[in-house]
Amino acid sequence: MLAKKSKDSKDSKDSKDLKDLKDLKRKSIEVGGRIGILGGGQLGRMLALAARQMGYRISFLDPSSDAPCSSVADKKIVANYDDIASVLKLGSRSDILTYEFENIDVNSVIALEEAGHQVYPSSYVLKTTQHRILEKEFVRSIGIKTVPFYPIYTPIDLEKASEEVGFPTLLKTAYGGYDGKGQVKIINLEQAQQVFNSLNHRTLIWEKVINFTKELGIICVRDQLGQIVTYPVTENIHVDNILDTTIVPARISDNVADKATEIARKIAQQLNIVGVFCVEMFLLENNEILVNEIAPRPHNSGHYTIDACVSSQFEQQLRAICGLPLGSPKMLTNSAVMVNILGDHKGDRFFGTTEILANDNVCLHLYGKKKAKPKRKMGHFTVLSDSVDTALSIAEETRKKLCWLESKYRRKVK
Ligand code: ADP
Ligand code: MG
Repeated sequence: MLAKKSKDSKDSKDSKDLKDLKDLKRKSIEVGGRIGILGGGQLGRMLALAARQMGYRISFLDPSSDAPCSSVADKKIVANYDDIASVLKLGSRSDILTYEFENIDVNSVIALEEAGHQVYPSSYVLKTTQHRILEKEFVRSIGIKTVPFYPIYTPIDLEKASEEVGFPTLLKTAYGGYDGKGQVKIINLEQAQQVFNSLNHRTLIWEKVINFTKELGIICVRDQLGQIVTYPVTENIHVDNILDTTIVPARISDNVADKATEIARKIAQQLNIVGVFCVEMFLLENNEILVNEIAPRPHNSGHYTIDACVSSQFEQQLRAICGLPLGSPKMLTNSAVMVNILGDHKGDRFFGTTEILANDNVCLHLYGKKKAKPKRKMGHFTVLSDSVDTALSIAEETRKKLCWLESKYRRKVK
């Protein structure tokens, strides 16, 4: 059944589109070309690794001097995302640019575009998807459902939202949140007013708390010619609002999987996006799907594609932005389970590698971050297996072997 789904995903390249391709020219960046990335976190690092594999050269810009991309890229610029002069310097070193983090200053992308640089996805896509209100308004405008929400600009909006959407609610900053940061659960108006005041009346979004049965995700890629490739629908389990586990394929009916895929395709077309993106969705008991958010970049829930698919989400990103033919999303295994490895308060030295790798179903990825701060994404592992149940039970066994210890131990053994 999985093989059929994967084939369908590949077949979703519309045959008419394929015929038209012969007549159209892509703007392609040849192998050896220079890719510029705004952001050098783990997503930038994995993108850079894929770029190296394909013979491209990488420069990136990140505010941190030891960003995970540092050890993989050819050149780095340490600067803030709103430092336009540095952003343009990155532009001058690049044949094509992208970003790995949606909370960068959109004016930087606009400045690059105005200086004649090609950035994918475009500033329009970034602007729409980095702002929770614009994002949800866009999704609704194309006939796709979102959670009930109310934009909060003034104290009066809080009262209106409490009447229209009600409680319990999640108050989220409209801009700048990620991994559950910038959101708080509220049960009464007084509490909402306190939060709004404590954030100096920053624009917020008031979202109804949804009682979903599952969270779903789908990685999708669209190229410069409008071709779209979708990966299988994933089931995403969050702990404390941070992704913990991704299960592929999601344990849902074909009908729900088709609906989710159709939503992603429609968003791809209507947003006119070029590049990889992820749609996060809530599945309700009545099988209705609500879109939660759109991430205009490779996504944590797509890390399984590195080990489980013919072309990873990172390779697809390069193919899309460099004007190469899109790759196959086909899975090479029946099922995969990805588990995030987060830091805790115990130390910065990772233990357990030997035990984890003793199981040949497990692929381990560590991002080279020096400090394993609590809840920081330090790495992930992916279990490949014939069945989701087996993959899940191996994942649970593997999870028990992860361990962070004091870093002074590392200094001693050096
Ligand atoms: P982030 O940008 O931090 O990923 P999200 O809006 O995706 O922000 O929220 C993170 C997680 O919090 C979601 O994956 C989901 O588990 C939970 N969550 C967010 N919004 C809602 C909601 N309206 N109802 C229920 N759970 C939610
Ligand atoms: Mg999210």
